[in-house]
Amino acid sequence: MREAEIIFYNGLHLEGKMQETLEKIANSKPVIAVSSGIKKSLLKESEDFGGVYDPHIWFDVSLWKQAVNVVTNTLIKADEKNEQYYLNNAKDYLAALTALDAWVKQSISTIPEKQRVMITAHDAFGYFGEAYNIEVRGLQGISTRSEPGIRDITNLTQYITENKIKAVFVESSVSEKSLRAVVEGSKEKGHNVQIGGTLFSDAMGAEDTPEGTYEGMVRHNVNTIVNSLK
Ligand SMILES: [Zn+2]
Repeated sequence: MREAEIIFYNGLHLEGKMQETLEKIANSKPVIAVSSGIKKSLLKESEDFGGVYDPHIWFDVSLWKQAVNVVTNTLIKADEKNEQYYLNNAKDYLAALTALDAWVKQSISTIPEKQRVMITAHDAFGYFGEAYNIEVRGLQGISTRSEPGIRDITNLTQYITENKIKAVFVESSVSEKSLRAVVEGSKEKGHNVQIGGTLFSDAMGAEDTPEGTYEGMVRHNVNTIVNSLK
């Protein structure tokens, strides 16, 4: 970060304690929260964080498009002579995201409505659920700072068994242990729920793979969800 000319970060407390470091560096170079361009009325408040906003904004592609504008404006300010270059790139990328947004909507709508429930380890998909009309449930809250308790596991197991949920999803950045306990618990109650696959929640895929880009990461998640729940 010391070598960077500009630093972009998500904001809305996603970076946790790193916030202090970011604020210090902001004295010497542009340090920009990409979430700063999103209207407050579009943000979800989260009880978990004592009334502050849910930071997982990128899972609603139309919200993330607003972050593109923040990045574009910042780059132009720092490098005015190449304004047109940034504007052209932004236009192309926004068009790609518009198409992606429509594709996600269409794909999720192919899951029969009764099966459209997405269960994950932590509550990262609130914006996703609202934008794409799928119910979401996390074993633990929005933050991953603490482990889920026995009661969280028991409640979710009961929900899955009662509603005959076909699959739950592990996340690349969160321990699978507790979700596996839910799967085992459901089996003991006579309902065979599968692990539907691994979703990227607070991280992307490896560099130089399709999942290492925003678009590829979204497509991977949506294909995993649709294939398991349909
Ligand atoms: Zn998260």
